[in-house]
Amino acid sequence: MTTASIPCRNGVARTGTGLAIIRPVEPIAPDHLRHFLAARDIPCPACGYNLRDLAIDHCPECGEALFLAVRGLHEPTGPALVRLLAAALPLGFNAIFTAIGVVGAAFSHSWRPDDWLLVGMFGGLSVVFAGMLGRVQRTMPRFRGRARRNQWKRALGLSAIAFLIQAVAIVFMFIVR
Ligand SMILES: [Zn+2]
Repeated sequence: MTTASIPCRNGVARTGTGLAIIRPVEPIAPDHLRHFLAARDIPCPACGYNLRDLAIDHCPECGEALFLAVRGLHEPTGPALVRLLAAALPLGFNAIFTAIGVVGAAFSHSWRPDDWLLVGMFGGLSVVFAGMLGRVQRTMPRFRGRARRNQWKRALGLSAIAFLIQAVAIVFMFIVR
């Protein structure tokens, strides 16, 4: 990836930026787009079509208008945020219930030994989702390099997996109690 530090719209220079094909935000000269795509395998941000050697300013596959622009690596995007929350939300949920369980074990008079099973499950789920969150953050640069449609597919896929893990665990808790 080409790195550059170029003043953006509000005049603030950003570091760690990369050149990427994105939807119209801050168009640079159209010639640069052609030059950038010459002999480069770059996917269309909307549909993933390979734009290599493209001589026009829109995707021949889906018609998306294309511009070359400077983009920060750390600005939040919809799919990246959804993917982050898919792991962070259940982690918070399970960690809170683990903490409540530990407090309950210490102070509640009606605490039963098999309540530890629930605390263990919430604790175990916290570990699972913490691992998921760590992986989400480690693979974020690679994720941001993917086509936008692919990002949504992966973000929603991870959300579905996280939801399924949580749902199965909760159903299991009701069965064993
Ligand atoms: Zn396209």
